[in-house]
Amino acid sequence: MKQVYTASNIVDAQIFKDYLCGAGIEAIIKGEFLTGAVGELPTNTYPTVWVIDEDLFDKAKELLKIYEAPRPSDQVFHDSWTCPACGEWMESQFTECWRCGRQRI
Ligand SMILES: [Zn+2]
Repeated sequence: MKQVYTASNIVDAQIFKDYLCGAGIEAIIKGEFLTGAVGELPTNTYPTVWVIDEDLFDKAKELLKIYEAPRPSDQVFHDSWTCPACGEWMESQFTECWRCGRQRI
């Protein structure tokens, strides 16, 4: 078993673990229960993601690169729209076409 990723929080760890599992790589999360245990001071331990089959470690590292690669602003692309009148591509913040003034549908 080999550690492939140190997550910033448990949600992050979970997403990456699911990502690996989706690619057929079995992985587990360690350290998810270490923070805030009763009677203990909060630790600075971050959850880590471990690949069970070390033969798949390199592949997991490749997937990590993709996972961590900066993505073009998802929000902008998600909500972007195309003007039905003139075909101009609009970012999400526009509610009407800046070119021909057509309202967003
Ligand atoms: Zn337009």
